[in-house]
Amino acid sequence: MIVDRAELVAEAIRSGTLAGLPGGHFIDGRFVESVSGRRMESFDPGRGKAFATVAAGDGADIDRAVAAARAALSGPWSRLSPAARGEILMRASRLIAERAARFAVVETLDSGKRLAEAEGDVGGVVKAFAYYAGAADKLHGDSMPLGPDHVGLTIEEPVGVAAQVVPWNYPLSTAARGIAPALAAGCTLVVKPAEQTPFTTLMLAELLDEAGLPAGVLNVVAGTGTDAGAALVAHPGIDHITFTGSVATGQRVMRAAAEHVTRLVLELGGKSPLVVLADCDLDAAVAGIMEAIFENAGQICSAGSRLIVEEAIAAPLLERLVASAQALRPGHGLGDAGIGPINSPAQLARVAGHVDRARAAGNRILTGGAIVPPEECGGGWFYQPTIVLADGPDDPLVQEEIFGPVLTVQVIPDFEAAIAAANATSYALVAGIYTRDHARAWRYARAVDAGQVYINEFFAGGIAMPFGGNRKSGFGRAKGMAGLRSYCKLKSVVARI
Ligand code: NAD
Repeated sequence: MIVDRAELVAEAIRSGTLAGLPGGHFIDGRFVESVSGRRMESFDPGRGKAFATVAAGDGADIDRAVAAARAALSGPWSRLSPAARGEILMRASRLIAERAARFAVVETLDSGKRLAEAEGDVGGVVKAFAYYAGAADKLHGDSMPLGPDHVGLTIEEPVGVAAQVVPWNYPLSTAARGIAPALAAGCTLVVKPAEQTPFTTLMLAELLDEAGLPAGVLNVVAGTGTDAGAALVAHPGIDHITFTGSVATGQRVMRAAAEHVTRLVLELGGKSPLVVLADCDLDAAVAGIMEAIFENAGQICSAGSRLIVEEAIAAPLLERLVASAQALRPGHGLGDAGIGPINSPAQLARVAGHVDRARAAGNRILTGGAIVPPEECGGGWFYQPTIVLADGPDDPLVQEEIFGPVLTVQVIPDFEAAIAAANATSYALVAGIYTRDHARAWRYARAVDAGQVYINEFFAGGIAMPFGGNRKSGFGRAKGMAGLRSYCKLKSVVARI
């Protein structure tokens, strides 16, 4: 199997695919076909063509996977010390680093994202496994002072079988930020990757097996949300769900979880504000906004998709942003493009629909605003980097997540208006601000409703910083020690002595 980066890229460009991709579900330590025998195609969004097939799972495959995960919960896995669990995670971290190029090229083929971004994602996954490897034996409870006749303490226990449902925009990194802490905590898992992007999660399961994970501890079932996802979240054999995806599906998952009172973390959408005050470092702000909205072609839950700019600086800022957006050349993720494709024709149509409606409503489109003709970009699914002026706080451009390379601009008179605008949607995932005035930056950080706030660098942080939303962006936190605790149940023990 090829592992060299240049050879992998050449092979993927020449053949349109890669040899050695996993083709089955990973259940009880091995790859298996679906009970039904059905398979589905996976598409390269940069070319708009299928490049591989994979097993298409349903309730019968979920049943097998949950049975394997339940059995593994009381198998050899339960007898490993936390430090031994950490050693497996550390071995996995090193193996991912060794095979980073292969993971990244497969991620680019499957999701469409630019190779440099996929490499960044894989680097983050190496760090995530190392972080939770180190955390596995530091997950301790407290002792409580109850007086001379009692001893009271708390124990963090693994929650049991964890289900994880993953979207297509960050397939490997989203799967890893659930799998690594769940394993560190001592849980077993059934993971359902998005139907558009199953491969890197299946590769990760195989790699963890090689790193020493006992059979059945991590199971991955590929399939659609309707066939496999719905069966997983409704299964009575799971103890916890981590769901990452849209608000509409999250609401369905929440209803399914209610049936068995299953614990739930919801990581949903966003319409995150990025405030730029007149006193900012303009170069840093331009660079930050470009990354916040055009990275992964805007298909990021935490994208800075709503620019809230102080009137005094709006004209020069917008002029620079328009020029930068027009300089981004769309192209295949394995080439040297400035912006990659949209993951599916359905998502491309959704993005175009939002912008077409804004145009019809009279919104001013400063740049972009159209699908790139497929013949101009190798047949793939691309949308032009777009900047559009919003028309008041009730404008759908302000309120609705687009999940594409579309920046909505709100011009406001001053700092107080910026805070009000930032908080005026039903989402509350992340928020950013660019200003040289740190007192105002910290006032904003406290006043804005968001799970993460970035001051003078959007997307700053890493695996140590808890991540998640409020309101319709969901609840619960991934990453950091909070992410680890989401896979634990706390037991209080009191003894009379
Ligand atoms: P989606 O909700 O359509 O699908 C997400 C996952 O849910 C997929 O694996 C899908 O197969 C599965 N699914 C679909 N129906 C299901 C059902 N009835 N029961 C169980 N599972 C089901 O979302 P999407 O379009 O793939 O992803 C984009 C959305 O995800 C955006 O709204 C984005 O903001 C959000 N997102 C949030 C975060 C976060 O951390 N907050 C991260 C990434 C993406």
